[in-house]
Amino acid sequence: MGFTKALKCRECSREYPVEPIYVCEFCFGPLEAVYDYDGIKKVLTRETIAARPRTLWRYKELLPIGGEPQVGLDSGFSPLIKADNLARILGVKELYIKDDTVMHPTLSFKDRVVSVALTKAKEFGFDTVACASTGNLAHSVSALGARAGLKRFVFIPASLEKSKITASVVYEPNLIAVDGNYDDVNRLCSEIANKHRWAFVNINIRPFYAEGSKTMGFEILDQLGWQAPDHVVVPCASGSLLTKVWKSFKEAHKIGLINDLHTKVYAAQATGCSPIAAAIKSGADVIRPVKPDTIAKSLAIGNPADGYYATAVVRETGGYGEHVSDAEIIDAIKLLAATEGIFAETAGGVTLAAARRLIEAGKIDKNGSTVICITGNGLKTQEALAGHTGEVHHIKPNLASFEDVLARIGR
Ligand SMILES: *Cc1c(COP(=O)(O)O)cnc(C)c1O
Repeated sequence: MGFTKALKCRECSREYPVEPIYVCEFCFGPLEAVYDYDGIKKVLTRETIAARPRTLWRYKELLPIGGEPQVGLDSGFSPLIKADNLARILGVKELYIKDDTVMHPTLSFKDRVVSVALTKAKEFGFDTVACASTGNLAHSVSALGARAGLKRFVFIPASLEKSKITASVVYEPNLIAVDGNYDDVNRLCSEIANKHRWAFVNINIRPFYAEGSKTMGFEILDQLGWQAPDHVVVPCASGSLLTKVWKSFKEAHKIGLINDLHTKVYAAQATGCSPIAAAIKSGADVIRPVKPDTIAKSLAIGNPADGYYATAVVRETGGYGEHVSDAEIIDAIKLLAATEGIFAETAGGVTLAAARRLIEAGKIDKNGSTVICITGNGLKTQEALAGHTGEVHHIKPNLASFEDVLARIGR
């Protein structure tokens, strides 16, 4: 059996049994999984972890499942790349890219959360899974749910990129395109979740789903030889990933996987949807919802469910927040590709561009170690680069034509 003790309200600390519920009945605070850390400490050591397969399930005792993993068995353990080319350009000493563009069936970090959510949905006995998505979650629920033999209802904003719609519908879920933005879709899904007994991964299964994000943090520590980095830059949509990366670091510290924890956590958003970064920068206590307008659609949540908690983590750790323009996002996607050979989606452009600003402003210290979390693959958002990529050299199929071009462009 697993080590999850209960669900606990983040506001009033009331505890609930492990069930598909997500809000406190007394204060409406969000529920979060709590664990028997003393029990985990006895079985989960650096040595036991090292002996396991390189997947996100190596840290399974720290995930809210009751039995064995059932979904996404090969997902995770994406590369942590020492990005020396990029470090030179940004003027920092030690820079890493946590590269979640690969090692996941649908090529984004959402396969982490969905692997955990669908395993839990099966444990609870659901036959239908559902989600409200900005794109990547739709891919992941559609694909992993297909393999797990689950019925799927996937709700997206109708304005989503064409290629993102194709990459969901190919798995033959029930795909519902809603006339409205993500926040409208999410509101509708909360109503549907009250009516139909489905596992909405990011609504009634959210306390379990969200814990899957911790695996990104555990992997970073594992890949750094169980050392915490000085700085970690995380993109924010709802703010969940950021809070869970920090939770994973604290848990690793609590059970002795790392000895020292001093990491500062930084939030990255697009200027066209920056409720979390804006609150951090202005020192505001409340998150002011916005109407998203950015090419970074996977981060376009105007009313972020975990926004408050994300700002609290940033303040607690001494980090900061930054938001960047669409032009900076495109430049950063190209920079990452041309220096490190990694093609990130728009969310990746956001994270790198924000990191760059934070370094230039002296918020991230150039002599420390920095990890930048790149969360999705650029093949998913190619439209964003239309008209912004380098020249294609067009020639006739003969040597003279090639030599003409070569003389013009040089080597
Ligand atoms: C969903 C998503 C995020 C962040 O999501 P949170 O809601 O903040 O956990 C980051 N990057 C990509 C590519 C995503 O799809």
